[in-house]
Amino acid sequence: MREMLEKHLLWISLREVRIFESIKKDTFKAVVETEDGKCIETVLMKNARGQFTVCVSSQVGCAMACTFCATGTMGFTRNLTSDEIVDQVRFWNIFLAKRKEIKERISNIVFMGMGEPLANYENVKESLRLFFAYTDIGITRITVSTVGLLPMLRKILDDETWPAVRLAVSLHSADGDTRRRMMPSSYASFLDDLAEWTARYFQKFESRRRHLTFEYVMLSKINDTESHAEALIAFAYRVGNVRINLIPYNFTGSVYRDSLPGDFMRFQKQLEDAGITVTRRKTMGDDISAACGQLVVEKTTL
Ligand code: SF4
Repeated sequence: MREMLEKHLLWISLREVRIFESIKKDTFKAVVETEDGKCIETVLMKNARGQFTVCVSSQVGCAMACTFCATGTMGFTRNLTSDEIVDQVRFWNIFLAKRKEIKERISNIVFMGMGEPLANYENVKESLRLFFAYTDIGITRITVSTVGLLPMLRKILDDETWPAVRLAVSLHSADGDTRRRMMPSSYASFLDDLAEWTARYFQKFESRRRHLTFEYVMLSKINDTESHAEALIAFAYRVGNVRINLIPYNFTGSVYRDSLPGDFMRFQKQLEDAGITVTRRKTMGDDISAACGQLVVEKTTL
């Protein structure tokens, strides 16, 4: 019976294609294949708590086409099912069980892999329900990151069944024109609409204030000048001083470059001096193209 079950029942919906390990051995990236032959990537990385965070993908490719993102170059193929999302975490649990020398366990999940999670709203919500039902990973240990899909962000405000997970909104510029150039999904009144949504979010969920972060990828001479910092400070004041997370840029196959170290520090200090809560994301796994903005399935990686 065991043999028959093993042969006919799929225990996990994702098949390992290849696993990459960073030199520092703190980040792993897996290319996995779905039952219908689509390849996606998922990442396992050490976190500040000394445990592991899994970065899950929510779609095969992405339709948002952010100009600085490797996944954005792939186009969109399809949404992942809730099983395929959950199985990325199960995949890494199986991996860790085999690698006995690794003692740490998975403590956090971030929806920051391939795809726009809120464009796959129902399947992402179901995967969150499954995580809470079948793992010990709590609500504040899961972050859903969005490009800022406002219809869906508004839906969250009215959806009693959406769990109080952390939200990370990709702002990347508080200057409307710059943001539109970087992110084709943006539009003329986006910043006004986002400010209005944020006010409603805090009105409804004041207790979740610390659960909202605005992400800001640092691109040299594009969004890291003094005037961009001023615009960001003004926007942060306007929306009630949310936390800003500055992200070093990792994708090398694009026209953009990472901020020069001096520019990065000056930008961060300008924000801090203005009393903004600012954090800086640690780059991990860039040597295996597992860092933020680097996830893309290419034939050459297989
Ligand atoms: S940054 Fe996110 S939303 Fe934008 S193209 Fe990449 S995966 Fe899609």
